[in-house]
Amino acid sequence: MSKKVEEWTVLSMLEWATDFFENKDIPDPRHSIEWLLAETLEIKRLDLYLKFDRPLSPQELDTLRPMVKRRAQHEPLQYIVGYTDFINAHISVNEQVLIPRIETEQLVEIILDEHQSEEDLSVLDIGTGSGCIPIALKMEQTSWEVSGIDISEGAIHTARNNAEQNDADVSFTKGDILNPNSIIENGPFNIIVSNPPYVKPGEKDILQQQVKDYEPAEALFFGDLEKMYNSIIEFASQKLTENGYLYLELHEKYSQEILAIFDEQNWSARIENDYDKKPRFIIAQQR
Ligand code: GLN
Repeated sequence: MSKKVEEWTVLSMLEWATDFFENKDIPDPRHSIEWLLAETLEIKRLDLYLKFDRPLSPQELDTLRPMVKRRAQHEPLQYIVGYTDFINAHISVNEQVLIPRIETEQLVEIILDEHQSEEDLSVLDIGTGSGCIPIALKMEQTSWEVSGIDISEGAIHTARNNAEQNDADVSFTKGDILNPNSIIENGPFNIIVSNPPYVKPGEKDILQQQVKDYEPAEALFFGDLEKMYNSIIEFASQKLTENGYLYLELHEKYSQEILAIFDEQNWSARIENDYDKKPRFIIAQQR
């Protein structure tokens, strides 16, 4: 941004920063500057296209400049602006929590769809992170009693803030699924849901730089998937109601492996694909 301050307009900034990000190998360079500029000007991204000639004030440039620098170092847009939208919720995010993904929105939509007319259900989310899953569920189904657990204090803090921000009555407590005695939520639950860490540490290199450098490792990586699924299954066996359901997001590569684990534990389970047609969710019930 070395031009004279008064020369910058919406269009010249979009063009300059797109090139700048492209040279730094930032994913979606145009989209990145659109997002940051719209945030700075407090307008919708599409409205930038109606304001190409609008000059940028020195104050606006002061706001934008540090955001562009952060993005140029591959920091995710959602951490820079501090939030993301998740279904019907406005979710604040920071480096303590995984950025909610569209696949996870789909997981919530499957649950809402399959239990649309059921009232007063009790739901627990394991490894809740930002709290996006239980908050979105509660906002759609206000009669449900919804809670979330996480091993990370930072996540619990963020999730509680998000519940308050969205006026959603969801409780969050600390708990570790590998150590079920640490979980104070007693149930029984009609639904247990989880998007657990499911990337094997050896696969770290295939993740985008913005994911591996910024998002919390404890939300992404788990070495022994069998151990993790067995812990979830054991907990769910004790805490689900008789016809209760378990909904999990999973790694597209391991769906068959995970189905086999459920089968061994005498659960019936089916896989659902995501919008990319990748096997992404498992829906399971105890036989
Ligand atoms: N889908 C995420 C990613 O690949 C991983 C989410 C997870 O481990 N639960 O970035």
